[in-house]
Amino acid sequence: MLAAVYHGRHDIRVQEWPAPPNPPAGWVTVAIAYCGICGTDIDEYLHGPVVIPTTTHPLTGAKAPLVLGHEGAGVVVAAGAGAGIDPGTRVGLENSVGCGQCAACLSGNRQLCPQYAVIGLMMDGALAETVNVPASMCAELPPSLPDEAGALAESLAVAVRAVRRAGSVAGVDVHVFGAGTIGLMAAQVARSSGAHSVTLRDLSAARLGRAAAMGFEVAPPSPDGGRAPVVFECTGTAAGLADSLSATARSGTTVVLGVHDRPREIDLVALLLDERVIRASLSHAMNDDYIPAIELLRRGKVDFESLITDRVPLQGAVDRGFDPLVADPESHLKVLIDCRQ
Ligand SMILES: [Zn+2]
Ligand SMILES: [Zn+2]
Repeated sequence: MLAAVYHGRHDIRVQEWPAPPNPPAGWVTVAIAYCGICGTDIDEYLHGPVVIPTTTHPLTGAKAPLVLGHEGAGVVVAAGAGAGIDPGTRVGLENSVGCGQCAACLSGNRQLCPQYAVIGLMMDGALAETVNVPASMCAELPPSLPDEAGALAESLAVAVRAVRRAGSVAGVDVHVFGAGTIGLMAAQVARSSGAHSVTLRDLSAARLGRAAAMGFEVAPPSPDGGRAPVVFECTGTAAGLADSLSATARSGTTVVLGVHDRPREIDLVALLLDERVIRASLSHAMNDDYIPAIELLRRGKVDFESLITDRVPLQGAVDRGFDPLVADPESHLKVLIDCRQ
Protein backbone atom coordinates (compact mmCIF):
# COMPACT_ATOMS: atom_id res chain seq x y z
CA MET A 1 0.00 0.00 0.00
CA LEU A 2 0.98 3.66 -0.28
CA ALA A 3 2.06 5.49 2.91
CA ALA A 4 3.89 8.64 4.06
CA VAL A 5 6.85 7.24 6.00
CA TYR A 6 9.08 9.16 8.42
CA HIS A 7 12.73 8.19 7.96
CA GLY A 8 14.33 11.12 9.76
CA ARG A 9 14.73 14.89 9.75
CA HIS A 10 13.83 16.37 6.34
CA ASP A 11 13.17 12.84 5.13
CA ILE A 12 9.52 11.86 4.70
CA ARG A 13 8.85 9.57 1.75
CA VAL A 14 5.58 8.64 0.08
CA GLN A 15 6.36 5.03 -0.72
CA GLU A 16 5.16 1.46 -0.81
CA TRP A 17 4.83 0.03 2.72
CA PRO A 18 3.59 -3.37 3.91
CA ALA A 19 -0.18 -3.38 4.42
CA PRO A 20 -1.15 -4.24 8.01
CA PRO A 21 -1.92 -7.93 8.73
CA ASN A 22 -5.37 -9.18 9.71
CA PRO A 23 -6.21 -7.33 12.94
CA PRO A 24 -5.63 -9.25 16.19
CA ALA A 25 -8.31 -9.60 18.88
CA GLY A 26 -9.64 -6.20 19.94
CA TRP A 27 -8.13 -4.41 16.94
CA VAL A 28 -9.55 -3.23 13.63
CA THR A 29 -8.19 -2.32 10.22
CA VAL A 30 -9.32 1.12 9.08
CA ALA A 31 -9.21 2.26 5.46
CA ILE A 32 -8.32 5.93 5.88
CA ALA A 33 -10.37 8.57 4.09
CA TYR A 34 -8.65 11.72 5.37
CA CYS A 35 -5.75 12.37 7.72
CA GLY A 36 -4.58 15.83 8.78
CA ILE A 37 -1.02 17.09 9.03
CA CYS A 38 -0.31 18.39 12.54
CA GLY A 39 2.23 20.89 13.87
CA THR A 40 3.80 17.92 15.65
CA ASP A 41 4.39 16.25 12.28
CA ILE A 42 6.03 19.44 10.99
CA ASP A 43 8.23 19.53 14.11
CA GLU A 44 9.36 15.97 13.46
CA TYR A 45 10.03 16.86 9.82
CA LEU A 46 12.10 19.96 10.64
CA HIS A 47 13.70 19.16 14.00
CA GLY A 48 13.03 15.49 14.69
CA PRO A 49 13.10 12.85 15.70
CA VAL A 50 11.57 14.52 18.78
CA VAL A 51 9.01 12.00 20.08
CA ILE A 52 9.36 9.44 17.27
CA PRO A 53 11.42 6.63 18.82
CA THR A 54 14.81 5.75 17.36
CA THR A 55 15.02 2.71 19.61
CA THR A 56 12.19 0.24 20.16
CA HIS A 57 9.18 1.85 21.92
CA PRO A 58 8.46 -0.05 25.18
CA LEU A 59 4.74 -0.47 24.46
CA THR A 60 4.44 -0.67 20.67
CA GLY A 61 7.84 -2.07 19.74
CA ALA A 62 8.00 0.44 16.88
CA LYS A 63 10.78 2.82 15.86
CA ALA A 64 11.61 4.95 12.83
CA PRO A 65 11.05 4.46 9.97
CA LEU A 66 7.29 4.43 10.58
CA VAL A 67 4.10 5.71 8.97
CA LEU A 68 3.09 9.24 10.09
CA GLY A 69 -0.46 10.47 10.73
CA HIS A 70 -2.43 10.81 13.98
CA GLU A 71 -5.49 12.75 12.76
CA GLY A 72 -7.26 10.06 10.80
CA ALA A 73 -10.82 9.07 9.94
CA GLY A 74 -12.09 6.34 7.67
CA VAL A 75 -14.05 3.13 7.50
CA VAL A 76 -13.46 -0.16 9.32
CA VAL A 77 -12.67 -2.87 6.77
CA ALA A 78 -11.71 -5.75 9.09
CA ALA A 79 -12.29 -6.44 12.79
CA GLY A 80 -10.47 -8.82 15.13
CA ALA A 81 -12.31 -11.00 17.64
CA GLY A 82 -14.20 -8.99 20.25
CA ALA A 83 -13.44 -5.63 18.63
CA GLY A 84 -17.10 -4.68 18.89
CA ILE A 85 -17.11 -2.63 15.68
CA ASP A 86 -18.55 -4.02 12.46
CA PRO A 87 -16.77 -3.65 9.13
CA GLY A 88 -18.39 -0.81 7.21
CA THR A 89 -18.56 1.46 10.28
CA ARG A 90 -17.18 4.98 9.70
CA VAL A 91 -14.87 5.98 12.54
CA GLY A 92 -12.65 8.78 13.78
CA LEU A 93 -9.38 7.79 15.45
CA GLU A 94 -8.66 9.26 18.89
CA ASN A 95 -5.06 8.08 18.35
CA SER A 96 -3.73 7.12 21.82
CA VAL A 97 -2.61 3.75 23.15
CA GLY A 98 -1.82 3.00 26.80
CA CYS A 99 -0.74 0.00 28.84
CA GLY A 100 -4.35 -0.54 29.93
CA GLN A 101 -3.35 -1.32 33.52
CA CYS A 102 -1.99 1.82 35.20
CA ALA A 103 -4.08 4.33 37.16
CA ALA A 104 -4.11 6.77 34.23
CA CYS A 105 -5.35 4.15 31.76
CA LEU A 106 -7.95 2.84 34.21
CA SER A 107 -9.26 6.40 34.70
CA GLY A 108 -9.67 6.82 30.93
CA ASN A 109 -6.58 9.00 30.50
CA ARG A 110 -4.30 6.98 28.25
CA GLN A 111 -2.49 10.22 27.35
CA LEU A 112 -1.05 10.22 30.89
CA CYS A 113 0.09 6.57 30.82
CA PRO A 114 3.86 6.22 31.43
CA GLN A 115 3.95 4.08 28.27
CA TYR A 116 1.69 6.44 26.26
CA ALA A 117 1.95 5.92 22.54
CA VAL A 118 0.29 7.70 19.61
CA ILE A 119 -0.34 6.27 16.17
CA GLY A 120 1.75 8.00 13.55
CA LEU A 121 4.45 8.85 16.10
CA MET A 122 5.17 5.74 18.19
CA MET A 123 3.57 3.19 15.83
CA ASP A 124 2.36 3.16 12.24
CA GLY A 125 -0.23 5.88 11.63
CA ALA A 126 -2.99 7.05 9.35
CA LEU A 127 -1.11 8.75 6.49
CA ALA A 128 -1.61 5.50 4.60
CA GLU A 129 -4.27 3.61 2.75
CA THR A 130 -4.97 1.45 5.83
CA VAL A 131 -3.86 1.19 9.46
CA ASN A 132 -4.42 -1.28 12.30
CA VAL A 133 -5.55 0.30 15.58
CA PRO A 134 -7.12 -0.87 18.85
CA ALA A 135 -10.91 -0.64 18.64
CA SER A 136 -10.73 1.40 21.87
CA MET A 137 -9.43 4.44 19.94
CA CYS A 138 -12.26 4.36 17.39
CA ALA A 139 -15.39 6.49 17.71
CA GLU A 140 -18.27 5.99 15.30
CA LEU A 141 -18.98 9.04 13.14
CA PRO A 142 -22.61 10.20 12.94
CA PRO A 143 -24.05 9.77 9.42
CA SER A 144 -24.41 13.55 9.01
CA LEU A 145 -20.68 14.19 9.56
CA PRO A 146 -18.43 14.14 6.49
CA ASP A 147 -15.11 12.28 6.63
CA GLU A 148 -13.24 15.61 6.69
CA ALA A 149 -14.94 16.52 9.97
CA GLY A 150 -13.92 13.14 11.37
CA ALA A 151 -10.30 13.93 10.55
CA LEU A 152 -10.56 17.28 12.35
CA ALA A 153 -12.09 15.73 15.49
CA GLU A 154 -8.64 14.89 16.87
CA SER A 155 -7.31 18.44 16.91
CA LEU A 156 -10.71 19.70 18.09
CA ALA A 157 -10.46 17.26 21.02
CA VAL A 158 -7.16 18.95 21.98
CA ALA A 159 -9.11 22.22 22.20
CA VAL A 160 -12.00 20.61 24.11
CA ARG A 161 -9.59 19.35 26.76
CA ALA A 162 -7.81 22.71 27.00
CA VAL A 163 -11.08 24.55 27.60
CA ARG A 164 -12.09 21.97 30.22
CA ARG A 165 -8.69 22.43 31.89
CA ALA A 166 -9.42 26.17 32.16
CA GLY A 167 -12.41 25.51 34.41
CA SER A 168 -15.67 27.22 33.48
CA VAL A 169 -15.33 29.88 30.77
CA ALA A 170 -19.05 30.74 30.85
CA GLY A 171 -19.45 34.52 30.99
CA VAL A 172 -15.67 35.00 30.99
CA ASP A 173 -13.47 37.02 28.62
CA VAL A 174 -11.04 34.65 26.91
CA HIS A 175 -7.86 35.45 24.99
CA VAL A 176 -6.20 32.90 22.69
CA PHE A 177 -2.57 33.38 21.67
CA GLY A 178 -1.82 31.87 18.27
CA ALA A 179 -4.53 32.00 15.59
CA GLY A 180 -3.53 28.76 13.87
CA THR A 181 -5.74 25.67 13.67
CA ILE A 182 -5.58 24.79 17.37
CA GLY A 183 -6.04 28.41 18.45
CA LEU A 184 -9.11 28.82 16.23
CA MET A 185 -10.49 25.55 17.57
CA ALA A 186 -9.90 26.56 21.21
CA ALA A 187 -11.61 29.87 20.40
CA GLN A 188 -14.63 28.10 18.92
CA VAL A 189 -14.91 25.69 21.86
CA ALA A 190 -14.66 28.61 24.30
CA ARG A 191 -17.38 30.45 22.38
CA SER A 192 -19.66 27.39 22.35
CA SER A 193 -19.00 27.01 26.10
CA GLY A 194 -20.52 30.44 26.74
CA ALA A 195 -17.46 32.70 26.97
CA HIS A 196 -18.46 36.38 27.20
CA SER A 197 -15.92 37.31 24.51
CA VAL A 198 -13.12 35.53 22.67
CA THR A 199 -10.10 37.45 21.34
CA LEU A 200 -7.42 35.97 19.08
CA ARG A 201 -3.93 37.43 19.60
CA ASP A 202 -1.36 36.94 16.83
CA LEU A 203 1.40 38.82 15.02
CA SER A 204 0.18 37.69 11.61
CA ALA A 205 -2.32 39.99 9.91
CA ALA A 206 -3.37 37.09 7.68
CA ARG A 207 -4.19 34.87 10.66
CA LEU A 208 -6.02 37.69 12.45
CA GLY A 209 -8.00 38.34 9.27
CA ARG A 210 -9.23 34.75 9.25
CA ALA A 211 -10.09 34.96 12.96
CA ALA A 212 -12.07 38.16 12.40
CA ALA A 213 -13.92 36.53 9.50
CA MET A 214 -14.97 33.79 11.91
CA GLY A 215 -16.49 36.43 14.17
CA PHE A 216 -13.77 36.72 16.81
CA GLU A 217 -12.24 39.83 18.33
CA VAL A 218 -8.61 40.26 17.29
CA ALA A 219 -5.64 42.04 18.86
CA PRO A 220 -1.85 42.02 18.62
CA PRO A 221 0.09 40.01 21.21
CA SER A 222 1.58 43.21 22.69
CA PRO A 223 0.44 44.43 26.15
CA ASP A 224 -1.98 47.00 24.66
CA GLY A 225 -4.12 44.00 23.66
CA GLY A 226 -5.24 43.85 27.29
CA ARG A 227 -5.58 41.09 29.88
CA ALA A 228 -8.19 38.38 30.43
CA PRO A 229 -9.08 35.95 33.23
CA VAL A 230 -8.55 32.93 30.95
CA VAL A 231 -5.75 32.79 28.38
CA PHE A 232 -4.81 29.92 26.06
CA GLU A 233 -1.17 29.63 24.94
CA CYS A 234 -1.23 27.93 21.54
CA THR A 235 1.96 29.30 19.96
CA GLY A 236 4.65 27.05 21.42
CA THR A 237 7.07 30.00 21.25
CA ALA A 238 9.00 31.78 24.01
CA ALA A 239 7.45 35.12 23.04
CA GLY A 240 3.97 33.59 22.89
CA LEU A 241 4.33 32.13 26.36
CA ALA A 242 5.66 35.39 27.81
CA ASP A 243 2.84 37.36 26.17
CA SER A 244 0.22 34.83 27.34
CA LEU A 245 1.43 35.06 30.93
CA SER A 246 1.49 38.88 30.83
CA ALA A 247 -2.01 38.91 29.36
CA THR A 248 -3.48 36.74 32.13
CA ALA A 249 -5.37 38.87 34.63
CA ARG A 250 -4.90 38.79 38.39
CA SER A 251 -6.22 35.44 39.80
CA GLY A 252 -6.53 34.22 36.22
CA THR A 253 -5.48 31.01 34.49
CA THR A 254 -3.06 30.48 31.62
CA VAL A 255 -3.66 27.16 29.87
CA VAL A 256 -0.56 25.96 28.02
CA LEU A 257 -1.30 23.63 25.11
CA GLY A 258 1.37 24.78 22.68
CA VAL A 259 4.27 22.31 22.55
CA HIS A 260 7.51 24.03 23.60
CA ASP A 261 10.68 22.49 22.27
CA ARG A 262 12.89 23.75 25.10
CA PRO A 263 12.66 25.00 28.72
CA ARG A 264 11.26 28.54 29.19
CA GLU A 265 11.85 31.20 31.84
CA ILE A 266 8.86 32.23 33.95
CA ASP A 267 8.69 35.30 36.24
CA LEU A 268 7.49 33.58 39.42
CA VAL A 269 7.31 36.83 41.40
CA ALA A 270 4.85 38.29 38.90
CA LEU A 271 2.90 35.01 39.04
CA LEU A 272 2.88 35.14 42.85
CA LEU A 273 1.82 38.79 43.13
CA ASP A 274 -1.13 38.13 40.80
CA GLU A 275 -1.82 34.69 42.30
CA ARG A 276 -2.20 33.35 38.79
CA VAL A 277 -2.39 29.70 37.71
CA ILE A 278 -0.54 28.00 34.86
CA ARG A 279 -2.21 24.80 33.76
CA ALA A 280 -0.98 22.34 31.12
CA SER A 281 -3.30 20.45 28.80
CA LEU A 282 -2.01 17.34 27.04
CA SER A 283 -3.73 15.88 24.01
CA HIS A 284 -7.14 14.41 24.92
CA ALA A 285 -9.02 11.55 26.54
CA MET A 286 -11.52 9.46 24.59
CA ASN A 287 -14.66 9.92 26.70
CA ASP A 288 -13.98 13.37 28.14
CA ASP A 289 -12.66 15.11 25.02
CA TYR A 290 -12.79 13.16 21.75
CA ILE A 291 -16.43 12.02 21.95
CA PRO A 292 -17.53 15.57 22.98
CA ALA A 293 -15.52 16.95 20.02
CA ILE A 294 -17.48 14.74 17.63
CA GLU A 295 -20.69 15.86 19.33
CA LEU A 296 -19.73 19.55 18.85
CA LEU A 297 -19.15 18.84 15.16
CA ARG A 298 -22.45 16.96 14.85
CA ARG A 299 -24.34 19.84 16.44
CA GLY A 300 -22.72 22.32 14.06
CA LYS A 301 -21.05 24.22 16.92
CA VAL A 302 -17.69 24.27 15.15
CA ASP A 303 -16.98 25.70 11.71
CA PHE A 304 -14.53 23.07 10.50
CA GLU A 305 -14.80 23.96 6.79
CA SER A 306 -13.10 27.33 7.37
CA LEU A 307 -10.17 25.54 8.99
CA ILE A 308 -9.45 23.29 5.99
CA THR A 309 -7.24 25.17 3.53
CA ASP A 310 -5.90 22.26 1.47
CA ARG A 311 -6.98 18.80 0.35
CA VAL A 312 -4.06 16.85 -1.09
CA PRO A 313 -3.88 13.28 -2.42
CA LEU A 314 -1.62 10.92 -0.44
CA GLN A 315 0.81 10.72 -3.37
CA GLY A 316 1.47 14.48 -2.94
CA ALA A 317 1.67 14.47 0.88
CA VAL A 318 5.23 15.83 0.96
CA ASP A 319 5.50 18.20 -2.00
CA ARG A 320 1.92 19.54 -1.74
CA GLY A 321 1.42 19.03 2.02
CA PHE A 322 4.47 19.17 4.28
CA ASP A 323 6.64 21.39 2.09
CA PRO A 324 4.11 24.23 1.54
CA LEU A 325 3.28 24.16 5.28
CA VAL A 326 6.97 24.69 6.04
CA ALA A 327 7.59 27.28 3.31
CA ASP A 328 4.52 29.43 3.96
CA PRO A 329 2.80 28.52 7.24
CA GLU A 330 0.64 31.66 7.30
CA SER A 331 -1.18 30.65 4.12
CA HIS A 332 -2.38 27.32 5.48
CA LEU A 333 -4.44 26.07 8.37
CA LYS A 334 -5.40 22.38 8.29
CA VAL A 335 -3.97 20.41 5.38
CA LEU A 336 -5.95 17.20 4.87
CA ILE A 337 -4.43 14.27 3.02
CA ASP A 338 -6.91 12.24 0.98
CA CYS A 339 -5.70 8.67 1.46
CA ARG A 340 -8.21 7.09 -0.94
CA GLN A 341 -6.48 8.33 -4.08
ZN1 LIG B 1 -1.23 16.48 16.58
ZN1 LIG C 1 -1.23 2.89 31.28
